[in-house]
Amino acid sequence: MSIASNIQEIRARMDRAALAAGRRPEEVLLVGASKMNTAAACREAIEAGIGALGENRVQEMREKLAQGAYEGAPLHFIGHLQRNKVRQVVGVVSLIHSVSSPELLEEIQRQAEKRDIVQDVLLEVNVGGEASKSGFAPGELRQAAERALSLDHVRLLGLMTIPPIEREPHGNLPFFQEVFRLYVDISENLYDNGFKYLSMGMSDDFEDAIAAGATLVRVGSAIFGARQYH
Ligand SMILES: *Cc1c(COP(=O)(O)O)cnc(C)c1O
Repeated sequence: MSIASNIQEIRARMDRAALAAGRRPEEVLLVGASKMNTAAACREAIEAGIGALGENRVQEMREKLAQGAYEGAPLHFIGHLQRNKVRQVVGVVSLIHSVSSPELLEEIQRQAEKRDIVQDVLLEVNVGGEASKSGFAPGELRQAAERALSLDHVRLLGLMTIPPIEREPHGNLPFFQEVFRLYVDISENLYDNGFKYLSMGMSDDFEDAIAAGATLVRVGSAIFGARQYH
């Protein structure tokens, strides 16, 4: 299967999942998770009309940027971000999905202020409470969202989550539903309903994420094929 036909098939499944949930298909954007795939593969996905591409590692993103991998589509950062790499990401990507600590929020503010820009971000929620994952605990989110409100070079537009590895079909649905409730609560109570992006769902579970309210799904292997780890 080609990247273009994979995208077409995923887009069709996304549209069906949105309609089944009583939502409009155009509310949900497909973000290609392009880590470990070449610049040529990225360009192929853009050619096929993908909504955005998301990268996980700063070094790989810089290399592929230099190769023109992302021309014609918005670039997002979706991976774990270290504080000392923030300056290489701010202003380069249109959305950072993975703000996982108060320190990161402050560093993004600092770097965006230097460039005199406003960086769009999401807060990552560690909904499964897993020690191996970064992100805010559900109970810490409100305080982080309040802090973000006071930062004039950061614009908080929503939430992102990576739930635990699915142990059974639809196993992540309750996690997605919980993050949707948090999203609505913070958007209504702190952001005057201004949130736009709820980033959740990957190759194996994007339909359940859409059923629960996702507006961005991050799909990698179902588009690009299995990643080759060396
Ligand atoms: C790799 C990755 C994805 C996509 O995972 P697939 O299972 O290949 O679809 C989504 N989100 C993040 C943060 C990732 O690192």
